Amino acid sequence: MWKKVRVFILLLVLGYVAIKAWKDLNQNWDQTIVVLLHPINADGSHNTENYIQQLNAQSFAEASEYLTASAKNYHKNTSFIFKIGREIKTLPPELPEHGSILSAILWSLKFRYYAWKETQSTDGYATVTLYLNYYDSNKYKVLKHSTALERGRIGVVNLFADIRQDQQNQVVMAHELLHAFGATDKYDLSTGQPIYPQGYVNPNQQPRLPQHQAELMAGYIPITETKSKIPLNLQQTVIGNLTAHEIGWSQ
Ligand SMILES: [Zn+2]
Repeated sequence: MWKKVRVFILLLVLGYVAIKAWKDLNQNWDQTIVVLLHPINADGSHNTENYIQQLNAQSFAEASEYLTASAKNYHKNTSFIFKIGREIKTLPPELPEHGSILSAILWSLKFRYYAWKETQSTDGYATVTLYLNYYDSNKYKVLKHSTALERGRIGVVNLFADIRQDQQNQVVMAHELLHAFGATDKYDLSTGQPIYPQGYVNPNQQPRLPQHQAELMAGYIPITETKSKIPLNLQQTVIGNLTAHEIGWSQ
């Protein structure tokens, strides 16, 4: 009898995990997407704290308009709501520098545990939760790379605590957000250059270079074969066909 009960409970748990994983891999784009953003004062400075305090619903309006309009281009009537959640005092686990597969797996488990532990019932429903590590731009010139997990729909995004960087921050955040829905990078990991053709907004343009916009998941605007530049805002980026396909916006 007890053995049967235990097996039954185990099956329930496995069923729940399987359904959750399936749902995470197959987003229903007819639903409103709620993105919960938890700011984190990653360098513990006053400047960063002041920056976090002035964040408001308008701070991410561009990203929400951009994503809603991009979805519409692929015939999806999805609205995106960005909610600024509680400031979190604990930093997410640090990404391994030279990632072996094992260290990447361990990190993703640690990060999912962190996300679970930091969630409070008052946070409300979220489709995706992003932890925004803010750094003072006077002290940090380069930030470590950000990452997001499709399973669990969580991400850690490193950003500058500087209003002059707000528009670029939204580019970085939107890029990571799409990773959480299964989009892959479209730049060469060794050189940082967008990959042809999937990383180009207009692969058929003549001459091919320079391009004038960045594919969001390529991250950069290709200028020459070896040079590319950072888009200044979301208007300089486009969600390309392959990315749209990966996240389920097109067949
Ligand atoms: Zn990426």
